[in-house]
Amino acid sequence: MIITDTHTHLYSEAFDDDRYDMITRAIEAGVSRFFIPAIDSTYTERMLQLEADFPEHMFLMTGLHPTHVKANFKTELQHVEHMLAKRQFYAIGEIGIDLYWDTSTLAIQQEAFRYQIQLAKKHRLPIVIHCREAFDEVFEVLESEKSDDLFGIFHCFTGNAAQAQQALSYNMKLGIGGVVTFKNGKIDQFLNEIPLEAIVLETDAPYLSPTPYRGKRNESVYILRVLEKLSELYSRSQEEIASITTANSKQIFGV
Ligand SMILES: [Zn+2]
Repeated sequence: MIITDTHTHLYSEAFDDDRYDMITRAIEAGVSRFFIPAIDSTYTERMLQLEADFPEHMFLMTGLHPTHVKANFKTELQHVEHMLAKRQFYAIGEIGIDLYWDTSTLAIQQEAFRYQIQLAKKHRLPIVIHCREAFDEVFEVLESEKSDDLFGIFHCFTGNAAQAQQALSYNMKLGIGGVVTFKNGKIDQFLNEIPLEAIVLETDAPYLSPTPYRGKRNESVYILRVLEKLSELYSRSQEEIASITTANSKQIFGV
């Protein structure tokens, strides 16, 4: 069984004490493909080191995270472009709009999001979207940028059924993680109406641990709890779900 974690911050300081063991534990359990979203330029070196340590397992993205869109965002976007010119990445992410932490930066978040979508199109790469309390704002940008060469993942999808359909209409797949195991997570109520071909698995480690680890540090091997829950919701075996969602991830990332 090959399980793909399409969104995990393995370079985070939260893993500084046991990174190697934690990743090895996951690989031994079948979680062997990791897609690594960027945050800002301060993490680039750590991401490159992670890839050097596990070259067959790590697939890096580049991008500027919406909560890190600050006064210096143009310099940060230049860093993203510089990295894209220099070497291979598998997506532009994570990018989008977050109005939970800060609403005062909305205008520059929108600008940075749009700019990075255009970069993704230019480089024929998928995008990985972060959307928090900002569905309308994210959809507005996607609506104006939609095209055949815009595609990717709506990471940590937490919307309702109508928002799920709208996300799919922009060639996005839904990233499903720990939230699907929460009692009040809501997406478990309609997820089985979404075809398995439209979803991918993720942890968002070290955040959003699934039940029964909710509130604790999340790690890659906990994706098995997400797989278990999806197996119940879809009445399909865990092997089938792992295989379909891994195939979906290959279709998006090209690897
Ligand atoms: Zn993330």
